[in-house]
Amino acid sequence: MTGKILVLPGDGIGPEIVTEAEKVIQALIGRHGLKVEIEHGLIGGSAVDATGKPLPDETLEKARASNAVLLGAVGGPKWETIERTIRPERGLLAIRAGMGLYANLRPALLYDALAGASTLKPEVVADLDIMIVRELTGGIYFGEPRGIRNTANGHREGYNTLVYNETEIQRIAEMAFKVAQKRAGRVCSVDKANVLEATELWREVVTEVASGYPDVSLQHMYVDNAAMQLVRDPKQFDVIVTTNMFGDILSDLASMLTGSIGMLPSASINQSGQGLYEPIHGSAPDIAGQNKANPLATILSVAMLLRYSLNEETQARRVESAVQQVLTNGLRTADIYSKGTQIVSTAEMGDAVITALNEC
Ligand code: NAD
Repeated sequence: MTGKILVLPGDGIGPEIVTEAEKVIQALIGRHGLKVEIEHGLIGGSAVDATGKPLPDETLEKARASNAVLLGAVGGPKWETIERTIRPERGLLAIRAGMGLYANLRPALLYDALAGASTLKPEVVADLDIMIVRELTGGIYFGEPRGIRNTANGHREGYNTLVYNETEIQRIAEMAFKVAQKRAGRVCSVDKANVLEATELWREVVTEVASGYPDVSLQHMYVDNAAMQLVRDPKQFDVIVTTNMFGDILSDLASMLTGSIGMLPSASINQSGQGLYEPIHGSAPDIAGQNKANPLATILSVAMLLRYSLNEETQARRVESAVQQVLTNGLRTADIYSKGTQIVSTAEMGDAVITALNEC
């Protein structure tokens, strides 16, 4: 079967890192028999500039007709002050909602070669392997009503709504338990059930879903404690399942346990297995256009794309092994550089991965 991938470079460093990831896909097509077609589209600030919308209808149509979307990143100072409803980040929220991508999988995996890059002691983070399963289409980022209004006494107030229904909680819990079955068999559900009713229901429903997975253990934790535990003893976690906003924050925290935001991929998946694959970092406007950005998170996003949307486990492992190999060979972009290693550019890092791929 020939798969279809829609590539959306986006803004800032997006085009640079996506170019390297595409080179990897082309190498798999050319040397390893991968059968995929690649299309391109606009999203984010570059789409606003070209069409007036952060997610043009054409992009969403193409995304829905693809097996998977590979995205760079969106946003930047140029679009920070434009009207809120057409800001680049709205394009990201809209494509997630438009494709029904309710589950976001974010691994936090420590590569041996980068153990020194973490700010935590090596013994705290060595062999770290956590999967954060974040609910992505509900919760406070989407809840209505929302806005900024004037109150009767002439002051402005901002407001948002945190709402979760049973179905939304059930399906993300199912995803977490299924992921845990393929891993160490432990789920920690993170909420704030002592304060927020929406997450009191979250806790109840996750507990109900757990009864269908007797081979997986379930623990509940409040989000403030989870943040503390992630820094104190991160290896206690296998799979963490949590709400949209808590997952957003905790996954960034977990990413720093591994040393660099430039190393971590993510997958957002819908009920039919279509997915959006992107690095967890943003568009890094401070280094855009300088050939300095780390492309490995985007290349590892390709590995997740191959695994979860194209069912190409062998090709996925090939990409992951190639990344492992370049790190073992001592190549580093500036963000993961340490003494005794060799600093390379974005393009040189991509080329090195392809060389390693061709040796696999
Ligand atoms: P950021 O992730 O873009 O950058 C944070 C820091 O990490 C910066 O110092 C940056 O240089 C560095 N960094 C990020 N990715 C890197 C990489 N691949 N290689 C080397 N260094 C890297 O976060 P930010 O500065 O808070 O946001 C910048 C813009 O990105 C904003 O407009 C924000 O809205 C947007 N953003 C987009 C996404 C997304 O597209 N998914 C996510 C987060 C932020």
